[in-house]
Amino acid sequence: MNVLVLESSKLYQKIFSDLFVSLGHFPRIVDNSKDGLKIFRHEDIGMICVAMNLVDTTGLEFTKKIRKKRNGQHATIVLMISEQNETIMKESMECGVTEICNKTNAEELSHKITYMMNRQIDKESKNIRNSQIIYIEDDKYIYKMTLAMLAEMGVNATHFTSAEEALDYYIKTDQHHDLIVTDIIVDGSMTGLGLTIAIRELNNQKSDIPILAITGFDDTARRIELFRAGINDYIIKPFVEEELTARVTNLISNSRMVHQIRIQQKKLYELAMTDHLTKCNNRHALNQLAPKYFAEAVRHKKPLGLLIIDLDFFKKVNDEYGHAKGDDVLQEIGQLLIETSRTEDLVARFGGEEFLILLPHCNGGQVKKKAQILRQKIELLKPAGLELTASIGATVLSAGLKMDFFELFKVADQAVYQSKEEGRNRVTYLPVES
Ligand SMILES: [Mg+2]
Repeated sequence: MNVLVLESSKLYQKIFSDLFVSLGHFPRIVDNSKDGLKIFRHEDIGMICVAMNLVDTTGLEFTKKIRKKRNGQHATIVLMISEQNETIMKESMECGVTEICNKTNAEELSHKITYMMNRQIDKESKNIRNSQIIYIEDDKYIYKMTLAMLAEMGVNATHFTSAEEALDYYIKTDQHHDLIVTDIIVDGSMTGLGLTIAIRELNNQKSDIPILAITGFDDTARRIELFRAGINDYIIKPFVEEELTARVTNLISNSRMVHQIRIQQKKLYELAMTDHLTKCNNRHALNQLAPKYFAEAVRHKKPLGLLIIDLDFFKKVNDEYGHAKGDDVLQEIGQLLIETSRTEDLVARFGGEEFLILLPHCNGGQVKKKAQILRQKIELLKPAGLELTASIGATVLSAGLKMDFFELFKVADQAVYQSKEEGRNRVTYLPVES
């Protein structure tokens, strides 16, 4: 779900950002209503947190404008206030605010936002209008009637009379689908049961789609067979509109909830593995991923390069220009390292001003060359307008040798130390002693 925050204070912007990120969402944050309305127009915003006082208007005026928009009825709007009084409460309800929250009370803030957010996700998942389903039925009378019922629910159905055609379409399409509704005996040689088995065996994201079977038989053995094949629910012909609506809604909203949770998990995972400042992998990610690089190199007898990049006199940047400037420098360096690396390289920040790059399939010569290029690029970068250089230590695990991360790291670390000793802004390459 997309979240929009309107807040003029930098402090509260940070508090809201941290709060939403901890819940697995990355909010859009602005300090004025003009930008807020623009974002609302172009993005599908489910929740808005708006402060009472904005740069160009009040939170109440902004709320009124949102509620007047065609798509502004469904969003949850939380008004953030710093002191409560009855006039504000009454006025805000009249403007269309969903809930008021005292932003100075951290506990109330976190509790209310979590609650309102879950409520909005729940509401969105139960709204099945515009969802996409695939429907397979060969009986003309039944499919005409059922398609009319589905249209009434606001669901978009793609209809087939044979399971083969439906399966072929489903495998090839880029369109996301929320549900498959299938009759059992249909045109062609594949049954609804065969279709279910084929989809469950797809072995990708598409194999998880909920399947509702429509059957003319109501005997226990047949039902068990259907569930074994992997259907999620069934409905017996002839059925009434209410039953179809209830079952379709249930299956779609459950699967959307699971989908939401997966997205949230993925975001939280990325968050846990990334250094926020530099966007490089963090130490935790390095510990998790480095052993895989070594296992791969040893198993396939491929070389694996390692660079340690240590910024020269970085402490002086912080001392002379302040930590904000120091952060800008690190951010730019991180970006440079990511941009100059291949997708298969592992770029990590593992200390204050220390970075590390693992270079699969690179031999000694290639590693030395890469290190020299990086050293030059850093010297030319002038991050945050400052002259800055780096000392680099390079080494390589030669093809066919067996070593773990810590052993190779020691060699590269020794090489960095030598670069520093010999006057900085240089590359030292040390071979592994076997
Ligand atoms: Mg049939």
